[in-house]
Amino acid sequence: MRNASRRGAVRGRRLAFVGACALLAVMVALPAMGSPTHPHEQRHPRVRNVILLIGDGMGDSEITIARNYAVGAAGRLLMDVLPFTGQMTTYSLQESDPSLPDYVPDSAATGTAWSTGAKTSNGRISTTAGADQDLTTILEQAEASGLVTGNVSTARLTDATPAVLMSHVNDRGCEGPDNMANCPQDLISAGGQGSIAEQSITKGVDVLLGGAADKYGQTITEGPNAGKTVAQAAADAGYAVVNDEAALDAATAGTPLLGLFAEGHMDLEWTGALATPYPGSGPQACSVNPDRSPTQPDVDEMTVKALELLEQERRMSHAKGFFLQVEGASIDKQDHAANPCGQIGETVAFDRAVGVALSYAAHHPGTLVIVTADHAHTSQIIPPQTAEDHSPGLISTLITADGAQMVVNYATNLEGRSQEHTGTQLRVAAWGPGATGVMGLIDQTELFEVMRQQLGIS
Ligand SMILES: [Zn+2]
Repeated sequence: MRNASRRGAVRGRRLAFVGACALLAVMVALPAMGSPTHPHEQRHPRVRNVILLIGDGMGDSEITIARNYAVGAAGRLLMDVLPFTGQMTTYSLQESDPSLPDYVPDSAATGTAWSTGAKTSNGRISTTAGADQDLTTILEQAEASGLVTGNVSTARLTDATPAVLMSHVNDRGCEGPDNMANCPQDLISAGGQGSIAEQSITKGVDVLLGGAADKYGQTITEGPNAGKTVAQAAADAGYAVVNDEAALDAATAGTPLLGLFAEGHMDLEWTGALATPYPGSGPQACSVNPDRSPTQPDVDEMTVKALELLEQERRMSHAKGFFLQVEGASIDKQDHAANPCGQIGETVAFDRAVGVALSYAAHHPGTLVIVTADHAHTSQIIPPQTAEDHSPGLISTLITADGAQMVVNYATNLEGRSQEHTGTQLRVAAWGPGATGVMGLIDQTELFEVMRQQLGIS
């Protein structure tokens, strides 16, 4: 087990390091791509792609923890080498009084911000705080403009971050036909569009990859698709539905694709001891998760396939470009669980997906890559702990790539309870045409305009 553990940890480090070196070489060889008058855009005036990569809950603290562990304090992750960076505020609104900020947002409100350009309250999926009106999303605008679109997540496709692009409900929990108790006005019989899963297959999204076979397996109870499961309705609407990596690999463009690779969220990349009260768990090295299903693709593999299909579809349909969102979802979920190895493994995997996007962009001028998070989270790097001076929270000591010990602290809730999001601003990084739009301090809603300008949609 110890050998397997060290192999797993080393694999993540080596890939990230080699990838960073290769990318640096590519970027040194290429001229800067931030200027809107760059010659690349004159040679390829019609290509307008956006790849938005969201590390859920991936604040500066989570990035630093993953960097220290995987490549060492002086190392660089792939996401660290994007040349244009800024900071982004993420606050949401209070549902009871939308004139007041909610300083600690959730993924539903933050996703709605970049997806629609408007702030809302926690729990809402692209609907307005208080008033419950639908907000048009960037994916819907892209589809209306004839662009090709994709949505990839390691969570359920009905989870908040993928949902904000392709659905409108007042409660993020209304994921499938059986989960509509809190969204009576979104029922089809009430004039709404149904659950998140039902809405997701009606928006013309070309590539949908993630988890949630359970939600798509629920039976629709109203409207023209009543009696079918959501997956059956998707197939009847023209989707090819695949459930494992082999079928994903075999998928071809020309038919929209729905990939459901897990019943719920997809499996974790790494495993290790949870953080515990003083003296905490560890010192530990993380292990590759032995229980991860071998039929599930990694987030970087899903990204490779999504880009291949979107590029082919773009050419076949003579579209100007595509919009793709990729979410590394379980950074957040393992932060909630005070699971440092789970959190780091998901961050390292997400970083590989960033590498895939940057490599694509390096070979396809006209592609804007944005790497950011939705909200900050609980984990913190703290000093070595003693009996006299230690955190009242949950701690774990990790042995990093430097060969040093790093203490990670989770102290935003009681032991056994879900650790909480936090409200600090986030890094937003970009590369490609329009990348300078993320510089300085922006608000999350401004990402919507940066992406919309690059896509050329009004
Ligand atoms: Zn969360």
